[in-house]
Amino acid sequence: MADDASPHISSAVLDGLKAVVGESGWSQDPDRLEPKLVEWRDRWHGATPILLLPKTVVEVSAIVRLCAETRTPITPQGGNTGLVGGQIPKGEVLLSLEKMRAIRAVNTDDDVIIAEAGVTLAALHDAATAVGRLFPLNLASEGSCTIGGLISTNAGGTAVLRYGTMRALVLGVEAVLPNGDVHHGLKRLRKDNTGYDLKQLLIGAEGTLGVVTAASLKLFSRLADRTVAMAAVTSPKQAIALLNLSKAVSGGAVEAFELMSRQGVAFALTHMPGTREPLAQPSPWIVLIEMASAETGATAAAMERLLEQALAEGLIADAAIAQSEAQAKAFWAIREGQSAAQKPEGAAWKHDVATPVSRIADFIEAATTAVQAFAPGVRVVAFGHVGDGNIHFDVLRPEKGDDAPHDALRDQGARIVHDIAMRCEGSISAEHGLGTMKSKEALRYKDPVDVAAMRAIRAALDPLQIMNPRVLF
Ligand SMILES: Cc1cc2nc3c(=O)[nH]c(=O)nc-3n(C[C@H](O)[C@H](O)[C@H](O)COP(=O)(O)OP(=O)(O)OC[C@H]3O[C@@H](n4cnc5c(N)ncnc54)[C@H](O)[C@@H]3O)c2cc1C
Repeated sequence: MADDASPHISSAVLDGLKAVVGESGWSQDPDRLEPKLVEWRDRWHGATPILLLPKTVVEVSAIVRLCAETRTPITPQGGNTGLVGGQIPKGEVLLSLEKMRAIRAVNTDDDVIIAEAGVTLAALHDAATAVGRLFPLNLASEGSCTIGGLISTNAGGTAVLRYGTMRALVLGVEAVLPNGDVHHGLKRLRKDNTGYDLKQLLIGAEGTLGVVTAASLKLFSRLADRTVAMAAVTSPKQAIALLNLSKAVSGGAVEAFELMSRQGVAFALTHMPGTREPLAQPSPWIVLIEMASAETGATAAAMERLLEQALAEGLIADAAIAQSEAQAKAFWAIREGQSAAQKPEGAAWKHDVATPVSRIADFIEAATTAVQAFAPGVRVVAFGHVGDGNIHFDVLRPEKGDDAPHDALRDQGARIVHDIAMRCEGSISAEHGLGTMKSKEALRYKDPVDVAAMRAIRAALDPLQIMNPRVLF
């Protein structure tokens, strides 16, 4: 990884870049730049000599070629919803894809949609709906996050259990490689065994192997019959037992299986106006289950069977099935608000870890005990896509404490949590990537053989390391 010092970019290079994109394609206005230099959690504040706003792949290619010729570093940015700081430049040229927002093609025979990198996830959902299809990735940041960012972080979200992460949803990618060449990979093929799969290298590369400019993405049938329920469990272990039962009972209809702790639900009730306790009694843990099917009435029947059996077996203490779309949305709002509802409570150490599903309960128990012993009084909010073995393990400062001392312990806290995740055969980044936040930390955990192979791939494609030089290794 290159060092963190800000690069110097000469005025001659800046003039050259301005000429590539024309008058409306760049900005140095501090007010225009400001929202792109601060990230969602307000943890990283960036700097850039110029914001570039190309409109076509030809312009992106010319920008990258000029940057390669002049060894000018680039940070690509999509919707700026990334949670590990990879999109925030530290003096590099900031290349935003916000003007590349076209849906280039939709084909329902192929079940494929081709969208440019700057298309937001919400706009993609709308475009799929307009042709009677579904694009199944769901994230709370859907109004802002973009196809380029989703691909570059291999985003997950709430329907991974059924449809997989972005890796499983991309058929092809168009990207500008670090020397300025264009990889024209917008394939619509489900099968293509002709050697290395370049799109899979670009997926999850966090902007280090090129700039994604468009992608061909899989579409699915819409499953109109949906049922959402909340169930009270006493522990993560019981949640896993309920997950197993739900898979057996539903015949593959479970689309989301999300766990929330009491502390997180309590913050949502306090800080999200209009939120109501979802079950009759507060429960130490709550699971949100969504099932979907094409057959009318199938999911309501399956959900009832599941909850009845789970009650009979003592797996759950209570449950509620949403009786309307509004109630289903209200249940989801509590889950999706788990992060935002923490904000008024002060500083937090955030961890996005994965373990095998069977080790989640061990992880939560061990990590909670360890952080509370390390920093007495901290408040743990554990929640996430438990069906995928993915837990967001957030550690908030003590109720009556100050932010600064808690912030000062962040790295030590992360070390404790990450060591435990690795002991549970896990990963220190389930879905957000490594970015600025975790790249150095990851070197402690990744197999040196894997790091060497990743460095070799990067050196082959980007020998000057101009693409997102602070990110990865
Ligand atoms: C409220 C909230 C909820 C979230 N929930 C989830 C969740 O459930 N699951 C999940 O996985 N993530 C989640 N995220 C994180 C975030 O939304 C995803 O990481 C998303 O994929 C980022 O997309 P973006 O367009 O905002 O990318 P950015 O934040 O702009 O960039 C992210 C990374 O991708 C690179 N990049 C962006 N565009 C390109 C491009 N065109 N070419 C090459 N590199 C590029 C950037 O350099 C950076 O390294 C959430 C975030 C928020 C704020």
